[in-house]
Amino acid sequence: MKDAQLRTYTIRAINQNAGEMDVDMAIHGNGKHSGPASYWAASALEGDTIVVGGPGSSKGLAESYDWVLFAGDMTSLPAISTYLEKLAPETVGYAVIKVTTADDIQALEAPAGVSVIWVTGNDNLIDEVAALSWHPGKPGIWVACEFSDMRGLRQLLVKERHVAHEQLYISSYWREGRSEDQHKVDKRKDAEAFEAGN
Ligand SMILES: Cc1cc2nc3c(=O)[nH]c(=O)nc-3n(C[C@H](O)[C@H](O)[C@H](O)COP(=O)(O)OP(=O)(O)OC[C@H]3O[C@@H](n4cnc5c(N)ncnc54)[C@H](O)[C@@H]3O)c2cc1C
Repeated sequence: MKDAQLRTYTIRAINQNAGEMDVDMAIHGNGKHSGPASYWAASALEGDTIVVGGPGSSKGLAESYDWVLFAGDMTSLPAISTYLEKLAPETVGYAVIKVTTADDIQALEAPAGVSVIWVTGNDNLIDEVAALSWHPGKPGIWVACEFSDMRGLRQLLVKERHVAHEQLYISSYWREGRSEDQHKVDKRKDAEAFEAGN
């Protein structure tokens, strides 16, 4: 494990009886220029082996809310899909998901009152979230996406909409132009600066 390259993924589904685990991986870039995980996903063959560690902790929705808002991209689509499937049938709100192309749109299982909005092409995740009409009452908001989008959404939700800390989970899952290891460093510095008010 000395030179192991670690990458973080969400368990989309698990079938212990069959000994199977589903992971949905967004493939990006071009061949070996993509990143080790994306390259592996694009070139893996049946019978190849991989070392899996975890699971890590799952950071969920607020304990109580009147409506929900999920925002994310291809990397958090597996997590958002799982949350939507578990919501009470009477839940209302939105899931706003940026995908690379229209072919990446999936049929999601969600309560009828939760609108699923797909963001494609040059449309922007932050603008789509900003344009939503808010439901009355207390939101439960869960956001995971690219670093710059996370910062834009954090500005919108925390500074402009004043969402209470306990009602919001917000995280970046990757950063354009930075490997996961570099992104982890950026993310820690950014969180410290944000908490310090910068
Ligand atoms: C808690 C958590 C859960 C995650 N779950 C999932 C998941 O279920 N499915 C999933 O697909 N991803 C998921 N991610 C994101 C994934 O870990 C990163 O995308 C990771 O950087 C991919 O590793 P890599 O080896 O392909 O690229 P890296 O070596 O990390 O990066 C190489 C280059 O590729 C770019 N890059 C990395 N990811 C993307 C991307 N998605 N789109 C475009 N360019 C990219 C980087 O900016 C960099 O320039 C999750 C991340 C976290 C923190």
